[in-house]
Amino acid sequence: MKPIDLLANKVFIPAYASYKHDSSYEYISEIEAFNVQPLDVIKAYQLQRIREIAKHAYDTTIYYRRLFDEMGLKHPQSLTWAEYEKIPVLTKDIIRSEGQNILSNAWKLEELRKTATGGTTSSPTPFYSDWDSMYRKRSATFVFDGWLGYKPGMKAAYLWQARQDMTEFKTLKEKLANLLINRCIFLPGSPLDDTVMEGYFRKLNNFKPSLLQAYPTPLELFADFIKRKTYHFKIPAISCTAEPLLEHQRSLISEVFGIMPFNWYGAREAGRIATECHQHDGMHVNCHSLYLEIAPSSFVCDDLGAILLTDLWNKGMPLIRYDIGDIGRLTESLCQCGCKLPRLMDMAGRINDTFQNSKGQKIPGVWFPNQFIKDSREISAMQIIQHDIGKFEILVVVTNEYGADTKVWLQQKLDEFMLEPTKLKVTIVDEIPCEKNGKLRFCKNIMTP
Ligand SMILES: [Zn+2]
Repeated sequence: MKPIDLLANKVFIPAYASYKHDSSYEYISEIEAFNVQPLDVIKAYQLQRIREIAKHAYDTTIYYRRLFDEMGLKHPQSLTWAEYEKIPVLTKDIIRSEGQNILSNAWKLEELRKTATGGTTSSPTPFYSDWDSMYRKRSATFVFDGWLGYKPGMKAAYLWQARQDMTEFKTLKEKLANLLINRCIFLPGSPLDDTVMEGYFRKLNNFKPSLLQAYPTPLELFADFIKRKTYHFKIPAISCTAEPLLEHQRSLISEVFGIMPFNWYGAREAGRIATECHQHDGMHVNCHSLYLEIAPSSFVCDDLGAILLTDLWNKGMPLIRYDIGDIGRLTESLCQCGCKLPRLMDMAGRINDTFQNSKGQKIPGVWFPNQFIKDSREISAMQIIQHDIGKFEILVVVTNEYGADTKVWLQQKLDEFMLEPTKLKVTIVDEIPCEKNGKLRFCKNIMTP
């Protein structure tokens, strides 16, 4: 650590946290110690936390009291894993329709921290958490970022899309706090062209961050820019999130920056969910904060399914078996790094981005471009849309090498992918449009349910 980083980490941050009554740094050593426990200890802890949350939810919320009474679950404080698995899944629709019934009466509404998740296909769902659970989530984030060598107080740059995360430092107090404590810069991920990226390159070279945190799509463009210009940019760590990190992006980023990016998965309502270790072989689940399970489903691969989360600390708005809308695969097999936290392998995107064939089989759309776009010289970007069973459209940004045979090739690839003949319309566009939340989707299922 540089002296100024150490000063920020050991002096400015603790002083500011104490001034703000912020206990985000208090749980770090507890979580670090937890993360090296054997799997049976991790599981026992999780069951004990689930019991406490379930008991609290039963005692202080209208929704869970009704739900557990209907199930005949009389003693949530001694819940078994078998009983836990019978608790009905909590969906965003239920959260929206139940409103305040899902909030604990142990706090007044204004005493809870409000956050809201966007969502490209549904209206925003309001989420709340009690402050202590929020601080614990932040502690966990610090612990997992520590795996990359990044500690609070070090400089970070964000090549970011989500507008709500882009803090504007207007007042002198805010500017000073950023200079000494947060120490970060935000670089909007769009629009990007060579002039904008030239500016980012200079800014990053002056700022010299210890971590670059980025959405994979703009980072791929930026890496490509640096490569074209034959520039060099040294950075100790890069992390990627929010969109699937595709293999060709990972290899381009590693080639240009000389280090492997760390992928992580998080959500506004759940905090840090999982993070890659230095083995880059799946993301270890944040088991101190969350219990993560995969719901059984009808995907083409048996062990792939919807991700369900139980928040182990949020008592303000208990989330038990919450369906976050993403799909993935989980393994408890031992990672080479020695850490026993289970790993999320193959994050397969949003459940809404899953395609379906006429046999009812579900196939994660994100796997389609992943298989071959890196080898394609005819197409520089694409988005694949399912309009109906057997009816698809692909938006393509083409290069000079695009021709009629590319379309035939795409049709053939799609039929193989969907395991049956399909009807395909190929539309040439100037660029793939971003969603309202700034994310780029490779695949979209817009079939009416
Ligand atoms: Zn590992």
